Amino acid sequence: MIMSLRSVLPYCVLFLANMVSAQTYITNVNIGDVENQRWIPYQTVVIEDGLISKVQSADKFKVPAGMNVIDGSGKFLLPGLIDAHIHFSQSGGLYTRPDAIDLRTFLPYQKEIDRGHQQMEQVLRRYLQNGITTVIDVGTTVNYLKQRAAFMDAAFAPAIYMSGPLITTYEPPALSNLGDDGPFNLVTSPEDGRKMVQQQLKYHPDFIKIWYIVGRDTSDIEISARAYLPIITAIIEEAHKNDIKMAVHATQRITAQLAVESGCDYLVHSVDDEILSDDFIQLLKKKKTILCPTLVVHDGYVNTFGQHVEMSNHELEMGDPYQLGSLMDMKHIPDTALVERYTNHMNTDERIEEVRQTTSNMMVNLKRLSDAGVIIVTGTDAGNIGTLHASSYLTEMQAMKESGMTNWQILQASTLNGARVLGREKEFGTIEKGKKANLILLDADPSLELDNVARINLVINKGVVIDPDTLIRESATDLVQRQLNAYNLRNIEAFLATYTDDAVIYTFPEKVLYQGKEQIRQAYTTLFENTPDLHCEILVRTVNDNVVIDEERALFNGKLVVATAMYHVEGNKIQKVYFME
Ligand SMILES: [Zn+2]
Repeated sequence: MIMSLRSVLPYCVLFLANMVSAQTYITNVNIGDVENQRWIPYQTVVIEDGLISKVQSADKFKVPAGMNVIDGSGKFLLPGLIDAHIHFSQSGGLYTRPDAIDLRTFLPYQKEIDRGHQQMEQVLRRYLQNGITTVIDVGTTVNYLKQRAAFMDAAFAPAIYMSGPLITTYEPPALSNLGDDGPFNLVTSPEDGRKMVQQQLKYHPDFIKIWYIVGRDTSDIEISARAYLPIITAIIEEAHKNDIKMAVHATQRITAQLAVESGCDYLVHSVDDEILSDDFIQLLKKKKTILCPTLVVHDGYVNTFGQHVEMSNHELEMGDPYQLGSLMDMKHIPDTALVERYTNHMNTDERIEEVRQTTSNMMVNLKRLSDAGVIIVTGTDAGNIGTLHASSYLTEMQAMKESGMTNWQILQASTLNGARVLGREKEFGTIEKGKKANLILLDADPSLELDNVARINLVINKGVVIDPDTLIRESATDLVQRQLNAYNLRNIEAFLATYTDDAVIYTFPEKVLYQGKEQIRQAYTTLFENTPDLHCEILVRTVNDNVVIDEERALFNGKLVVATAMYHVEGNKIQKVYFME
């Protein structure tokens, strides 16, 4: 389990070094040669003006006096990670896709839009905290294309690349007529498609993206795919004429094939309906099309709607606690008929078998593509329901590993190949002289154990050295929410991680229920084991500095109990809890 301590240091101590002197030296470090998939030991890397100005064997030169020096002995330096498939316009929470589940009566979609823009800085900080120094939003809104300019030079923000809104063959009614907040442009003819490309160019996207959705008009997906083909081809032509790359969402073999034959540069999903033929794989190689397998996003929907949310300890610690918590709201949304319909559907034998089959196809295809030398890139599709920004990245890497890819192949897919998606591999993605100084310094070797990419000692972003623990300041409420998430998921380790060693739980005002972590562990282990339907919903939350008061309604083995819990937080851990029934 990965559990780096979160710091409560304020934002102002963000910069460790680099403010005093123009050069930073990382000495005696193992540098990751992701291209050749090996470590080069005992190197010194010099960073200057946001760039790597020198990489040399450590014994070749002496560090001049007065420089910022980071001792890299025993540590591992990698290029910053790249998430090549995200969506800022989606939060990862339950209310973010009204076209998938319509809960707008409980949370108006406008609120979700507003919150997304307010949270953009926080989302960016979270990416950087997780070592992700570049993100690629493949399907955004005009308003996010405008907002990104504000973060261009910010040391706390990864580099942001974006496509325009999705040019789509199908527009979900729940997400139409949203103006500059809309993620879709519905296309009905080739001329229309060309015009849309032109319109999007005004906002300087890095890509044009097509949502190639077929089979809504006929059950024969090939007929449907071919009917839309002239539109797809026209858009790709128009984009290329303007020297802009094309990303396509196509999850069936036929749509993926037609897109690639038409010149698509980047497929953002796996093919999941067939095992790929050698011909198809050769086609990708010949066309140099890049593929992002995007393996875990579907599980996010299935697990959330099926009410068996699965979150690793890493995600419970590093993910947005509120969006993560919202995934469990299925258990208390008042529209029980709607919830039942979703949950029952996800848990039918046919549906389970379908998921098993598509997952298996994706895994087999990924291994075949990777073995054949097709360029594979890591991307999460974060923002979709159940796929949290930044924290889901490690989950995606682990899924890629399950396909049979090696750790080094995955590390290359997560760095250099992400730069290749953008055609910017000469600018970043490897550790070489002249490349951008976007780097992560790790305490342990990720080629031996992939989880070690989360053991981040320092992030170097845009040449600035940053302690990742300083990027997000967790409030008392954030901590209490994180504790509640672990409680609702009955995860004892993640739950205890939010408490001090000598924490005390009382019945108000002063009767001690449990004293110290060991007693709390015993009591809650028993509770979690014996209460499969355990679920706690917050009715009202009041915050007063380091005290959080939750009025809760909790379900224990079919019985609903209303209670109040008062949490006292000290040093970013829960020190005392008082229960009032
Ligand atoms: Zn996507």
